Amino acid sequence: MSREDPTPRCPHCDSGDVTRVAYFGTSAAQSQWHCARCRSVFEFWRYGGPLSPRGGE
Ligand SMILES: [Zn+2]
Repeated sequence: MSREDPTPRCPHCDSGDVTRVAYFGTSAAQSQWHCARCRSVFEFWRYGGPLSPRGGE
């Protein structure tokens, strides 16, 4: 029952070895990820309703 952020898979090579690069300022639901395998950068959208008010980080 953890509420950690889901880690997306690379849409290019389907690798799970990805690292979050940055959040977009305009939309907190969108984050940018870098794939260590094919070295592609892709954007990932989190959906599922409103973001948690306090992540605790
Ligand atoms: Zn990849």
